[in-house]
Amino acid sequence: MTTAPPEDQRRLLDVQALDTRAAQIVHARRTLPALARITELAVRLADVDSSRIASRTALSDLRRELAKSDGDVGQVRSRVARDQARLDSGTGTPKDLQAITSELTALARRQSELEDVELEVMERLEAHETALAELDAAAAVIEAQKAEAEAERDAALATLDAENATLATERAKVADGLDPGLVALYDKLRAQLGGLGAAALRGRRCDGCRLELNPMHVQVIRQSAPDLVVRCEECDRILVRLPEPAKG
Ligand SMILES: [Zn+2]
Repeated sequence: MTTAPPEDQRRLLDVQALDTRAAQIVHARRTLPALARITELAVRLADVDSSRIASRTALSDLRRELAKSDGDVGQVRSRVARDQARLDSGTGTPKDLQAITSELTALARRQSELEDVELEVMERLEAHETALAELDAAAAVIEAQKAEAEAERDAALATLDAENATLATERAKVADGLDPGLVALYDKLRAQLGGLGAAALRGRRCDGCRLELNPMHVQVIRQSAPDLVVRCEECDRILVRLPEPAKG
């Protein structure tokens, strides 16, 4: 049997209210809407980033391909220039000149083919550069939205932290000097019963489990010594009797 002064029992309800608010703050910290938004944006950013990596890889492959293509075209062009110079110099036998002329025809065809390849690579390169620029822009937008959500989260946390500090001070004041046995029982029940260790009896109803209690049980409670700490038969919480409203 635990006993405690009735005013301590009633003061325990104020402590409980502060503890409940503190628990709500813990819950609010974990479930800030900004947190879900930050997670969602981080996932989107990771998607865009992997696309950017793929795009940059494709671009560097294409730049290499273009360099090779440039080299191929350059080789053919210098070969053409050399042949043309020999042809222009007029030296060599007619047979030589004949051979050079037919080589120049083959080289012209080859050059045209290589230039087509080069052009096609350049077009692909441009398309990829455009795509990468679009991905970069999309990433910048998501990053800005994420920074905004993070600022929103930080502001909300600061507000909750400030309220929490006020609550802690208030709780220390309200709990100061409370009957130690009552506090020990309250702490034990609060740990076992989801943070709610003490509740008021309102009429026949327990404020903890919200159930209407058996009238016999209520009568026994009402008739118990005021300093007896009574418990709800349904939820086991400390049931605090409030002063009876004056009857008119
Ligand atoms: Zn109850």
